[in-house]
Amino acid sequence: MAMTMTSSPRAPVQSLYVHVPFCAQKCEYCAFFSEASSGELIHRYVDALVAELELVAAELRPKTIFFGGGTPSLLNLRQWEKILRTLDRLGLLGAEEFTVECNPATVSLDKAKLLRAMGVNRISMGVQSLDEALLDRLGRVHSRAMVFQSFDVLRQAGFDNVNLDLMFAIPGQTLAAWRATLADAIAMGSEHLSSYEVIYEEDTPLFAQLHAGEFDVDEDLACAMYDELLERATAAGFQQYEIANFAKDTNAIHPPSAGRPPSRACRHNLSYWRGADFHGLGPSATGYVRGVRTKNWSNTQLYCEQLEKGKRAIESREELSPLARAGETAAFGLRTTAGWPFEEFRQTTGHDLREQWLADMTKCVQLGWGQLAKDSFRLTRHGLRFADAAAELFLR
Ligand code: SF4
Repeated sequence: MAMTMTSSPRAPVQSLYVHVPFCAQKCEYCAFFSEASSGELIHRYVDALVAELELVAAELRPKTIFFGGGTPSLLNLRQWEKILRTLDRLGLLGAEEFTVECNPATVSLDKAKLLRAMGVNRISMGVQSLDEALLDRLGRVHSRAMVFQSFDVLRQAGFDNVNLDLMFAIPGQTLAAWRATLADAIAMGSEHLSSYEVIYEEDTPLFAQLHAGEFDVDEDLACAMYDELLERATAAGFQQYEIANFAKDTNAIHPPSAGRPPSRACRHNLSYWRGADFHGLGPSATGYVRGVRTKNWSNTQLYCEQLEKGKRAIESREELSPLARAGETAAFGLRTTAGWPFEEFRQTTGHDLREQWLADMTKCVQLGWGQLAKDSFRLTRHGLRFADAAAELFLR
């Protein structure tokens, strides 16, 4: 049976994701597990999270930590202090990369300074658009002005690694409006940019509006916007390293080399795309540790109740076969511009892409999606647009 490099029973898990399931209000397009919530439930959640961290700490030595949501920046100073002190007490601070997602409406200098002082060294800010009308259309709680203010506050607090998250193909968005948002966002001078096309998830207001015929989806316009993103981001010194992710390379000691992601690439996300183990804490969070995928309850009350009883709040566990896991790992890695060097894939999964997946790689090449070299396989620029369809081919 194939053994994976990441499945050693003794190796501590090096990536930690924490889900904070609260938002000031629910955005029109959002299908993440999050809720507009009262102070009481947030307080209870923080205590439950502390208990969950205590339960998994012995298995963790995080090199990357990512607090996502929801809106982690909605937690107040005292709640953040409690969480960060717990991480400190449990020996979990000191990660090479520690990211917190922020909404521009909930960034204050005090909070930003506390996060920075306690080891948070990367902020991902959910901007989505710099057009007031489109921010309204999306149901975002922040204004354009708040984005600029919050960015300044983050810089003042000492953050030199900031991601701006943008969205395109928003209903009603013209190409000119997208160009203006891109130009303004790039001019802010962040180290990282991520940008996703709007997706219509069931059970969201935007999905209901689409199905009620309130607007149409214009695929050609969405493609033109993606092309614009690639061109403008690249011209501004960003390197694309994944379908929707762009980073600057600010490492003067090790200049860019083929296959190495830019220095400001998100290491946490790269570890997912490279098939590494990770713990996921908080309501609805998924984790993958030593071949077992877990998912926590997507219900904050239930999550808290379980942890108050001293138990993990796991709703489901699924053990994947080594081949199924390798197929997933192959599929995730195809999202990156580097694709998979065969040797790295073999070391990660114990399987050889050239044996189990030769027909699938050949099919991708025939479709113009893939590029097969002597020592690696990757999707072409054109193929990255079809990464989901390509990924399906590699699942086992
Ligand atoms: S802020 Fe983010 S997580 Fe919260 S509702 Fe909006 S998109 Fe969803």
